[in-house]
Parts: sequence; C-alpha cells; structure tokens
Amino acid sequence: MSVEPSLVRSVEALREQVDVWRRSGLKVGLVPTMGALHEGHLTLVRAALAECDRAVVSIFVNPRQFAPTEDFALYPRREADDLAQLALAGVQLVFMPPVEVVYPEGFATAVTVSGSLTQGLCAPFRPGHFQGVATVVAKLFLQCLPDHAYFGEKDWQQLQVVRRMTRDLDIPVAVVGIPTVREPDGLALSSRNHYLSPAQRETASVFPRALREGIERIEAGDPVEAALGAMRDRLAASGFSPIDYVDLVDAVTLEPVRSLGERPLRLAAAAWLGRTRLIDNWPVVTGAGAR
Ligand code: AMP
Repeated sequence: MSVEPSLVRSVEALREQVDVWRRSGLKVGLVPTMGALHEGHLTLVRAALAECDRAVVSIFVNPRQFAPTEDFALYPRREADDLAQLALAGVQLVFMPPVEVVYPEGFATAVTVSGSLTQGLCAPFRPGHFQGVATVVAKLFLQCLPDHAYFGEKDWQQLQVVRRMTRDLDIPVAVVGIPTVREPDGLALSSRNHYLSPAQRETASVFPRALREGIERIEAGDPVEAALGAMRDRLAASGFSPIDYVDLVDAVTLEPVRSLGERPLRLAAAAWLGRTRLIDNWPVVTGAGAR
C-alpha cells in the first residue's frame, strides 16, 4: 500500500511542514530532481528515507540551467507518473514549485562557483549551466533547510560544484553523493535516455563499455593521452558525434591529470548520439589502490 505524499507548490507551505518536523527533532532529507523519475532518482530517494526520518523530493525543471540552444522545452515532464512513484517509495513531501515561485519578477541574483570546478568537462559546452544549478540548489537548500541532501554521482561535476557552494556559503546541509545506477548493459540511467531511438539505444551501450576499457588501460599503466584518444576513436567509430570530451581529472578539483599519483581520479565523458547528449564518469584506481 502507498500513502500519497503531500504536494506543496509554495515556499511557505514547504517551510511550514519542514519546520514542524524539525521542531519535533526529526531529520529531514531533500532530493532535488527535474522529474521524469527513474530508478536513479528512486535510489537517491531510498537513501534519504533510510538515513532520515522524512524525505522531501523537489521536482523543478530549472530554466536557468539550460542554455538557449538546449532541450528545456523538450525535457520530459511526467507529473502524475512521478507522484505515483514517489507515493510507492514512501516519500512524505513533494515540492513542485511553478517557475514564478522560484524566479519571481525582478529576480536578480546568481550563485557562481568559479575556478577549476567550472572550467573544464561540461562547463565550456553548457554556458551558464553550473551557475543555474548552483543558484537553484542554494535556493532549494535555503527554502527547505534539510539536514541532508542527496545527489547522484552520475553528474559528478554537479556534485562537486554543489559541495563547494554549500561549504563556501556555510549552508548547514550535509551533501550526500550516491553511486550511479545503470542499465544491465552499463548505460547510466538518465531522463534524457527517453530521447534515444531503439537503434541509438543499442549503440549507447558502447559508451560505458568504451570508457571501462579505456580505464582498464590507464589502470594497467598505459599512457593517459593514448588511452583517452583510443576512447574518443572508439566512440567516433560507433557514431557518437560530436564527442564533447573524454578526460581524466582529479576527482575533487576536476583539474585534468596526465601523470598518475595517489589522489582519487575520475574519468568523465560527454558525447552526442543524434540529438541526445550522454554523460558518464567512473573512478580510476591507480597507485597503491590498483590491482
Ligand atoms: P535530474 O532530475 O537529472 O536533475 O537528476 C536529479 C538527481 O538524480 C541528480 O542528483 C542526479 O545526479 C541524480 N541522478 C540522475 N540519474 C542518476 C543515475 N543514473 N544514478 C544515480 N543518480 C542519478
């Protein structure tokens, strides 16, 4: 049996409910999403429900994190289906604000995380994206004031940007990262996978496979540039175009890494299949931790 979560659309109603919980000493977890929920989102929700007494899920397709050329209008919106999934999962509260609640007339503030976190990987290909993300996440944190907030490692750069922003602004929220949920063939679940045709969906399985094979080469000691080049070639040969990037970076600063040491590394990539942009990332284990 599932109990309908409360659905609120205003900041006042959200605060009222979360306030009651916090005053009763209950721990609150927030899961920010853009809806079109899948098993990846639900894994975040389950982590919030396991670690907190109450879970809030926000659903808001944030116009400020889409560049003018991107898929804001096309982005899937499935309110009824999302609510049914959240009811089944046992979420207590869903915050689904209209755009004018988040960005009322005259809204003039933006949160910018600068430096290496927003210089490489997706940043040059998605101008304004991380500012849009940092701004909306800062707002959601301050609107809800949860104890914990849950983000997927699938969006690794986003996770690092959110961690930095939260620390820099002294927002008292613990940011929790959750490992990427994948299809059986390794493709990371994404709301944008709905855009893929059946043939493209088949080709998409090359994406995680090519990255895994490249990572194995790097972990075995192959030169990094050669391994990155081989991954790009493999993707290009399978029909991915353009390939925005395939890069090896420091897992925390996101600075490119070409000589391996002991610090945590991440291999991250973004590439297009037709009109669908796929992203993915994996840890790279070298040095003492390597096999
Ligand atoms: P989105 O609705 O795409 O903004 O995603 C909302 C949250 O779900 C973000 O923190 C994403 O990183 C996370 N997420 C999306 N896909 C996955 C996945 N396949 N595995 C784990 N987390 C995910």
